[in-house]
Parts: sequence; structure tokens; C-alpha cells
Amino acid sequence: MRGAVLYGPRDLRFEERDTPTIIEPTDAIIRISATCVCGSDLWPYRGINPVTQPTPMGHEYCGIVEEVGSAVTSIKPGQFVIGSFFASDNTCPNCQAGYQSSCQHAELVGTAQAPLLRVPLADGTLVATPDVPSGDMIPSLLALSDVMGTGWFAADAANVKPGSTVAVVGDGAVGLLGVVSAKQMGAARIIAMSRHESRQKLAREFGATDIVTERGDEGVARIKELTDGIGADSVLECVGTQESMMQAIRSTRPGGFVGYVGVPHEVELGGEELFYSHVHLHGGPAPVRRFLPELIDLAWNGKINPGKVFDLTLPLDQVAEGYRAMDERRAIKALLRP
Ligand SMILES: [Zn+2]
Repeated sequence: MRGAVLYGPRDLRFEERDTPTIIEPTDAIIRISATCVCGSDLWPYRGINPVTQPTPMGHEYCGIVEEVGSAVTSIKPGQFVIGSFFASDNTCPNCQAGYQSSCQHAELVGTAQAPLLRVPLADGTLVATPDVPSGDMIPSLLALSDVMGTGWFAADAANVKPGSTVAVVGDGAVGLLGVVSAKQMGAARIIAMSRHESRQKLAREFGATDIVTERGDEGVARIKELTDGIGADSVLECVGTQESMMQAIRSTRPGGFVGYVGVPHEVELGGEELFYSHVHLHGGPAPVRRFLPELIDLAWNGKINPGKVFDLTLPLDQVAEGYRAMDERRAIKALLRP
């Protein structure tokens, strides 16, 4: 089969790769219905994370189970399934606490930009939909594999409650789906920080009540202006830079919460500022598996439509163009169909 392989900065090739097979009895092989390019794929693509050897890519997936290992009991061939970028047993203490991305047996699922994918710990990792979905539902189901689950975790970690005032730092797919999450959780006011018109429009469609175009200290000042000088109850940090993290912390009211899901790149926090801020910080790689049953239910019943973040759809063999379009910010998120 052919799949995506990253060789170095901006050198993404679609080439022959080994067809995956069952290795462990707990594995499943799934035939990918759709996969996509993640904002975090752009870190190695841009050379910010070094690529030391040709690396298969892709960690967002949904599709039909083709084959299962002998120890798999709940997942069956023919089911349509969604899983997270971390395989998890869903039984260890960390999984039971709801932190499946810190599973004691966590394994990264990182070869999904291909027609077939091996998923370890299939019973713990994969969640089947009620039925095989219609084609128009697939983008929203695919989004649950990472971006929607990550936006949801940002809102959950930021303690969004009915009536909350929420600010979202970052207008990528995760930030936009953080808006969807905050809305679904009952936030009264959602301030999206974005300077791109098309993304502002989608943020409003998803439930944002205010848009702030300023960044850094000016962005913080605008959030304070909009919240009687206090700051937001909950701030979702969906970027991962020093500026975005400080913007998030300083936009939060004393006693408020920052949920941070942008993978930090050279972010350093000062102990003294944190101490006097009285802000709760919680984040990390989203335990998407915790949220999958609820998010599948919401998407299946049309209560959320996270698939709207895909503004570019390409055949899988044009995966390199998907990376280019996102790198140049011509697309929010590229969906790929094998
Ligand atoms: Zn576990």
C-alpha cells in the first residue's frame, strides 16, 4: 500500500509502505474511511521538531474494522470505529481515572495517513458507532479522533460550566472546536481570539459571542475590558507558544482555569507570576478516549458538527498538498480520503 512519509522539512512523500498486519493478539487492522492532517503534524513538517529518519505520518482516523487479533473480544470486523492517537487498554489505574493518554500501556498510533492502519489494544482504544455512518457524517466522526476531543478536553480542563465566560486562544481547528465544546457545555459568553476573517466567521457559527483580534498584552487588555477588568472564568489555550500561554494565563480571573492543549514549544512559566495569579492550570495530551462515547452520541445525533473545520478535502495521494495548504494557512484542516 502507499502512505505518507515525512523525510525532512517540507519533504512529505506518498510512497510504498509495508501493509500493516496483526502483530499482537490485541491488535485490530482497520480500513481507513478518512484521515487528515493535524496542526501538530506541521511541527516536524516545518522542521521545528527534527526528523531524523523517514517517518510515516498520521494519527487521526476512523474506518471499518477489517481484521482483529485472537484476544480481541468487543471489536468486530465490519464495525465502523473511531480511536484516539494514543492506544490505551482502558483498564489500568490511569485509564480508569480518565487519563487514557497516560495509559500504563499507551502506544502512539502514528501511521494513519494510509489506506490501512494497525491499532494496538483494540478493545480499549476503539469505539464503534451505532451503525455504519452515511458518507456525509464521516468528517464529523473523523474530527472526534483528535481535534474535537482535544478541544473538548481544553474546555473540560478549564472547568467550563453553564453560565461561564470563556476565552479561546488560538483559531486553528482545535481552538474552533474548543468554541463548540464551550457552547455545548453551556458557556454564556465565548470570546474567540482570532485575526482571520474566515475563522472568525466559523467561530461565530460555532457559538462565539465576541471576537478579539489583538494578541499578547493587547489581547489580554481587551479580554479584561470585556469582563469588567476581571478576566475570563475559563481560558482555552490551543496554540502552545510562550505568547499564547501567557496570553491565556493573564486573561484568566483570579480563581479561574486555563485548559492548555497546544503542545508547548519552548514555553517557560515564572513561578512568582503563577503564584500571584491564583490561576488553575490543567492540560496535556487530551485523553480523547474518555470523551469518545459522549462525542459520538452528540455527532451521531447532529448536536455538534465538528466536521465543518475541514475546509479542504483531497484524495489521499495528494496528502503533500494538504500539508502545504495548512502550512501556508490556506486551509484550516485538510481531510484525506483513500
Ligand atoms: Zn491504561
